[in-house]
Formats: sequence, structure tokens, C-alpha cells
Amino acid sequence: MIKNKHLDIIIKNASQIVTATSNIPKTGSALQNLGIIEGGAIGIADGMISCVGNTEEILKTFTVDTIMDASQKVVMPGFVDPHTHPIFVKTRENELEMRLQGKSYKEISQTGGGIRASIQDVRNASLEELVDLGVRRINKMLTMGTTTIEAKSGYGLTTESEIKMLNAIKMINEMSDMEIIPTFLGAHEYPEEYKDDHEKYIEILINEMLPEVKEQSLAEYCDIFCEEHVFTVSESRKILNAAKELGFKIRFHADELEPIGGAELAAEVNAVSADHLVAISDKGIQSLKEAGVIPILLPATTFSLGLSKYAPARKMIDAGLPIALSTDFNPGSCNCDSQQFVTSLACLQMKMLPAEAINAITINAAHSLERGKLIGSLEVGKQADVIILDIPTYQYLPYHLGSNTVESVIKKGKIIKS
Ligand SMILES: [Zn+2]
Repeated sequence: MIKNKHLDIIIKNASQIVTATSNIPKTGSALQNLGIIEGGAIGIADGMISCVGNTEEILKTFTVDTIMDASQKVVMPGFVDPHTHPIFVKTRENELEMRLQGKSYKEISQTGGGIRASIQDVRNASLEELVDLGVRRINKMLTMGTTTIEAKSGYGLTTESEIKMLNAIKMINEMSDMEIIPTFLGAHEYPEEYKDDHEKYIEILINEMLPEVKEQSLAEYCDIFCEEHVFTVSESRKILNAAKELGFKIRFHADELEPIGGAELAAEVNAVSADHLVAISDKGIQSLKEAGVIPILLPATTFSLGLSKYAPARKMIDAGLPIALSTDFNPGSCNCDSQQFVTSLACLQMKMLPAEAINAITINAAHSLERGKLIGSLEVGKQADVIILDIPTYQYLPYHLGSNTVESVIKKGKIIKS
């Protein structure tokens, strides 16, 4: 892999380098292993990682343009956030107040709040407005160490406005240093005009939206919100099978509120990931395992909704599932854009170990986006997505609550925060 003796960047003297290496999603004891190198260095050339190892040896072997000293700091792969909804117009802090006054998410949704509250705004917004608002939110995530996100549509729910959202994601991907993987989520909710005619909306999804999104190559995945009062299991099956026939791969909002068999359907349709899973059944856990579906847990959503029941992470880890973690960044149920805060919640509320949580926001999150060979770990030949944290050990990351300890961010070999 070493092509020349000159490097663009060397990061030296890290107290710990978290390599997080794995060709496959990490499970069981591997999930507790971060592949730590103490006192190590990393060399970067042409946007890729050229070497990882002993500081002295690397400094002796290579000439370099820029040296970054990571003494008493931890170096990690850039965080991967595999489930976000960052394209919206207005924030919905009024709903936080309603929830504090005792209204449930379901009640807020049934009275025209929730997802529906974001829809009219997105329909009325121009593409430029969506890009302008979205790029600022997404660039802020970069400063907190997240270097790749998955981003969903789903606040338009007409063909035109869903395409507009996906075009906004495409434009932000081009103008920002953030790498963004687009997902079509037209089945996020039934829009007001079809709330009594679900069949008609499903027909539009299948015959208009999905073919148009495919035609314009605007999304890699199709996702669905499969939940009581939203898309039932049989409606979801119909939509997802149509999406698969067009060549979309599947992501899945499953069993967030009720165990209605979402995980089982995610397994049946060979989804790449099943997300939320707070209410997953034992049978659902087994189905995910058998089908090789990666569970993405979103503890910040549970926290933000003020609920006490979190997804059964330990049970899933014991069953051999490769957990990934994500923020679920969105304007309603979870206005959280920090994977650092998510690791704190994963440890404190779901009893994951710090190493498990860090693997879950790096290498396993990368595998959940089918990019485990390119990002999510620090190894020779991978994309140079590297962050330096001003922390003494990796265990410190979940321990320091609500702080941004990321000091430097490098994306594809470019220093974007130093
Ligand atoms: Zn979501």
C-alpha cells in the first residue's frame, strides 16, 4: 500500500489510536475490542491512510508536509451517523413543551403535530432555502467529529417535494465536506390529504415517487416508518417489495413504539438495517440475526421523548447482533446531532461498554451503510477520515457528558478543523 515516502500529514504521539478495524460488523467479544495502539502515529497521503503504527518508525521512514501532535490525546476514525433527518425548515421546540405537559408523541401526532407539522413548511420552501438551512446543520456535525451521515427525505410526501429534499441532500453533499448517503423516506407518514385513503398514497409512492427517485438516481436506500397508526406491516411489505424491484436497498424504522413485527419484516425483505427497536420481540431479535440485518439503536430519541424504556442493547449483543448507534437527528422527536452524546446514553442507559459504543458509532455504523471497507476504521488503504479528541483515554468519551471533545477533524485527508 505504501507508494511513496512522502506524506501529506502525520498525526504523532497519540496516547491511544483507536483503529476499530474489522472487515465484518463487530459482534460479541470483538465489539469490546477497539484495536488500540498506544503512543502511535498515522500517516496520510492523497486522502487515504498510508500507514498506522509506531511514531518513531513512521517519522523515520517518511518526509511530510504537516505534523499534528496528538500527545495526551486520542485518535479515532471519524464518526459515522447512519440515521438522520437533517432537511427541514422550522425547529419544533413547542412540542418539547407539550410533551412536558404530559402529551405523548402519538397524541401530538394525532392532533396534527409531529411529522405533519414539518411537511407544510418543506412543501412551501424553495430548494435553496432547504440547502441553506441543511448545510449549516450538517457542517456543525462535522465540527463534532461526524464525517459521514445517512440523510433521509420524508418531510415532503409529494413527488415534487420529496425530489426537492433529495436534491437538497445531493447539493449539500457536493458543497460540504460531509459525506452524505441519501435515503428516500416517502413512507414516513400519511400526508393530511391521504389520511383517509391510504391505498391512494401507497399507489403514488409505488407508481410515481419511487420510479422518479430511481430515474434521477437520488437515493441509494428506501426506508419506511412501520408503526401502529402509520404504515402497517402489510402496507410496508407492499411498498418495500416494490422498492426492491426497482433496485433500492432497504432501511427500516421498526418497532419503535409497539412490537408489531417490524423487525421480522425487516428480516423478511433483507433490509440492510433495522432502526429504533425499542419494543423488539425475542422473535424479532432472532429474525435480525438470521437475516444479517444490522440493528441501529437511537437512544437519544428515547431520552428526548422522556421515556424510560430503551432498546434492549445487551440482549441483542448477547444474541450476537452487531449493534450500530445513531443520533436520529430530526426536528421533532430528537434534536440531537452529537454522536458523542449518543455514546454517553448508550453506556449509561443501555449498559453498553465504552468500547462497544465507540465501535457502534465507527466501524459498525460504516458497515450499516455498506461502507465498512472504505470508512469507519483506521487502517492502511482506507479513506483518511480521522479525528483527534482532547481526551486522555477512549473511556473518557462517554464519561464527559454533553461536551464536544473533538479537537481536530480530517475528512478524506483534508484538515477541516485543527
Ligand atoms: Zn428516523
